[in-house]
Amino acid sequence: MSKPIVVIGAGICGASCALWLRRCGHDVLLLDKSEPGMGASYGNAGLLAQWALVPVNEPSLWRNIPRYLIDPMSPLFVKWRYLPKLTPWLFAFLKNATSATSSQTSQALVPLLSDAVEQHKSLTKGTKAQNWIADSKFSYAYRNRAAFEQDAAGWAIKSAAGMTPEVLTGSEVQDEEPICGPMIQCLAVLSGQGHIQNPHGYVQSLVNAFEEMGGKFIQADVIDFERDGDGLRAVITKRGRIKCNKAVVTAGIWSKPLATKLGLKVPLETERGYHVMYKSPSEMPRNPMMMTIGKFSVTPMADGLRCAGTVELGGINLGPSKAPIRLIRRRVSELFPNLTYENSKEWMGFRPSTPDGLPLIGEIAQSGIFAAFGHQHVGLTGGAKTGRLISDIISQRIPNIDMSPYDPNRYAAR
Ligand SMILES: Cc1cc2nc3c(=O)[nH]c(=O)nc-3n(C[C@H](O)[C@H](O)[C@H](O)COP(=O)(O)OP(=O)(O)OC[C@H]3O[C@@H](n4cnc5c(N)ncnc54)[C@H](O)[C@@H]3O)c2cc1C
Repeated sequence: MSKPIVVIGAGICGASCALWLRRCGHDVLLLDKSEPGMGASYGNAGLLAQWALVPVNEPSLWRNIPRYLIDPMSPLFVKWRYLPKLTPWLFAFLKNATSATSSQTSQALVPLLSDAVEQHKSLTKGTKAQNWIADSKFSYAYRNRAAFEQDAAGWAIKSAAGMTPEVLTGSEVQDEEPICGPMIQCLAVLSGQGHIQNPHGYVQSLVNAFEEMGGKFIQADVIDFERDGDGLRAVITKRGRIKCNKAVVTAGIWSKPLATKLGLKVPLETERGYHVMYKSPSEMPRNPMMMTIGKFSVTPMADGLRCAGTVELGGINLGPSKAPIRLIRRRVSELFPNLTYENSKEWMGFRPSTPDGLPLIGEIAQSGIFAAFGHQHVGLTGGAKTGRLISDIISQRIPNIDMSPYDPNRYAAR
């Protein structure tokens, strides 16, 4: 029997890599320390965010940081006792908050994100997972037109990538989205977008489809790699050794210790994010929206209204905080004053973020081990294409986009 390609981590990136590799005829073993889709891919906002081309560390961050740190209604939170561990990443992250770097990052995100809806449709074609994809519009909801105009720099980047909004004001706002209360007086609406109606169910369906195509999933926690002069020999798990010559690391934020073993010094940090899921809501938005007041998104999902966002810097070991959830709840009641619901659930997840805002996609040196992690705020969006790119590279087809911005070896330890 041929040795399988081992894919480590069954979030959206791992599920997509596994499915595309299997479709290309490879023998594939997908591993996860838990069940599929229980990491960041579980509770994200479900947005196929083709428009999310402006990195978090864009130049205005410098201007906004002081306000973010003192304003209790700001969407940025810091666990101060984590600061010493955070410092190397934070330093590099802030160093990249320049016009030049931010613009390079945006340009590099375009080929990864801007056809995401099509990529997800290709990924799921002929599988039950396609039922979770909804075609939708996407709106940025503003306090007023002036607030929209203040966002001109971000809209210029989106427009350059072909996404120009229709701007609605006054009563047009409530005609478009009746859920919006009077605090919202301007919507910038993008057509031709899409979202996932149950991100966890989506990943599970992808893994089911992979298994139906002859792929194998097992629960196993990867702790190391066995290598010799000829390359990869095996992946070492807590359950034993799995022989293989090729592996793909798709372990989200948990990729960092594995990458370190492979000679990469990736300053991967988590931007913790939260959601509140409102069950049986009295009303839903017709389409997903980004509430610029509070910087969180609202997504109509199969099982309720998901309000997700905030950034908390605090690593992966400290428990969840109350303040981000309080903020989301308070903003929801202000922005949607007529919303009632039966009950609600809260969740925290770990976005895997690099200081340059770009994921690592490609082979690590010439090790036979490939990286596909570090997708920060847009892993669901870029996950489908990432799987296809990895499958192309392993199948020795040259990807039709410039892969150099995502080269994992930019973080090779020196
Ligand atoms: C609040 C919030 C909202 C978001 N909204 C969006 C959105 O709307 N659109 C979007 O595109 N992105 C969004 N994101 C970001 C997105 O969720 C992530 O970028 C994406 O889920 C990362 O996927 P992944 O497959 O790389 O990692 P994960 O989903 O975290 O999966 C990693 C998997 O690896 C497994 N694993 C870890 N270590 C090991 C090991 N040693 N051995 C075996 N298995 C291992 C884990 O159990 C896990 O299942 C959001 C994130 C948050 C927190």
